[in-house]
Amino acid sequence: MSERQDAEDSPGQDEAPDGATTAVTAPELAPGPAAAGERRGGPEGGEEGAVGKQEPGSGLRRPAAITLVLLGLAVLAVAAFSTPWQALTGGPPDPSRDFTAAQIAKARAFDAATSLPAYLSLALTVIVAGLLVATPFGAKVTGRLRGPWWLRVILGVLLITAITELIRWPLGVWYETILRDYGLSVQDWSGWAGDRLKSMGVQAFLLCVMLLALMALARKVRRWWIPAAAGAFALTVAASFVYPVVFEPIFNDFTPMRQGPLRTELLELARRDGVPVEDVLVADASRRTTALNAYVSGFGATRRIVVYDTLLRAPEREVALVVAHELGHAEHDDVLHGTLLGALGSALGVIALFLIFGPVRRRTGVTSITDPRATGALMGLITLGSLLLGPAQNLISRHVEARADAHALDLTRDPATFVAMQQRLALTNISDLSPDAVEYVLYASHPSAPERIALARAWAELNGVPRP
Ligand SMILES: [Zn+2]
Repeated sequence: MSERQDAEDSPGQDEAPDGATTAVTAPELAPGPAAAGERRGGPEGGEEGAVGKQEPGSGLRRPAAITLVLLGLAVLAVAAFSTPWQALTGGPPDPSRDFTAAQIAKARAFDAATSLPAYLSLALTVIVAGLLVATPFGAKVTGRLRGPWWLRVILGVLLITAITELIRWPLGVWYETILRDYGLSVQDWSGWAGDRLKSMGVQAFLLCVMLLALMALARKVRRWWIPAAAGAFALTVAASFVYPVVFEPIFNDFTPMRQGPLRTELLELARRDGVPVEDVLVADASRRTTALNAYVSGFGATRRIVVYDTLLRAPEREVALVVAHELGHAEHDDVLHGTLLGALGSALGVIALFLIFGPVRRRTGVTSITDPRATGALMGLITLGSLLLGPAQNLISRHVEARADAHALDLTRDPATFVAMQQRLALTNISDLSPDAVEYVLYASHPSAPERIALARAWAELNGVPRP
């Protein structure tokens, strides 16, 4: 799902069958900085909570700082050891070998058209988050709210979410108009607005849960960062687990794949691969997009492989290859690993918050982390934190995706169809065939299509199969 939900933030994004949905929202296709990713950074916090207005003393801060460093090293170690850095890579990508000059020109034109609204949206997101973190803007906006503290937090989240969305709305309309011009979006405006409001609602709901839990702890416990970090970890894991059954159905209907030769072939493929798969689900994506995609989400009892109904129009061998790629994610438990890494990152975010909330509190003019007027500052910090983590997530994701591609090739031994599939995906989704360095770092959750094709050729060479 969600590739469209923040589409305007992510120029490079539509690249392809995607991948494992990591943690909560993390749709495959580059979650836009502000929206989906937001809940990730974890609650943050201030200092004293129940205790008063002074900054936490060094006696309180030192254990938090030591834990921050140790946990940070642990996260780096887990990321370093669990990322398949050695996944197969191909030679230098060469778009002109597999795409015509006209196709390359069209991809460039689309990229140029979408880049402006995407970067403007990103800039607005950063500016608003910066204002919330470094000025009394958020405290002023939420200062007039009345009621018990928890109600003021909920209303504050809704109010600031609404203001942010209002500012970004015209850019979303602009982006959507471009998608329609290029035939990628087939939604009407009410469907588009409905999707956007729903995704805003999900985001606001998750933020409310985080902030209420954080503030409730900070009101009771002086060293709130300890239970809050544990809570952020647990909340991230729980949200990622229930995401496919609780949140995805808000956006799409899922039906088991129709009985027939394709379903039989896909389940046989999974059986041969040793990955227990009950069913392949089909999402009714065609009511909003012509793009092709597939993904794995959830883990354990909620794990599912989903293909867009748009993909089913492709030749069966290509669909099988896409599913083989998703089986690679399932076999390596990519969603679970991504979730655990995200959960550790959330815990880390909470501790960092404990340590840095002092200066934020002074600049924003709130009395403490438990002040409901701190809602805006906390939302800004979460947004900035998830923006900063995006490039690291993409770096890891690209290697995980390359491993899933290699898995699909091992399973099907059909690099020629792999190349045909990559061409179809790139052309249908109008993917960026040669993303520039900034786009690559900010948005590329997958290797580019020419890179994936080069990988298939390298695989063929290694395995003695004719190079496509
Ligand atoms: Zn993938």
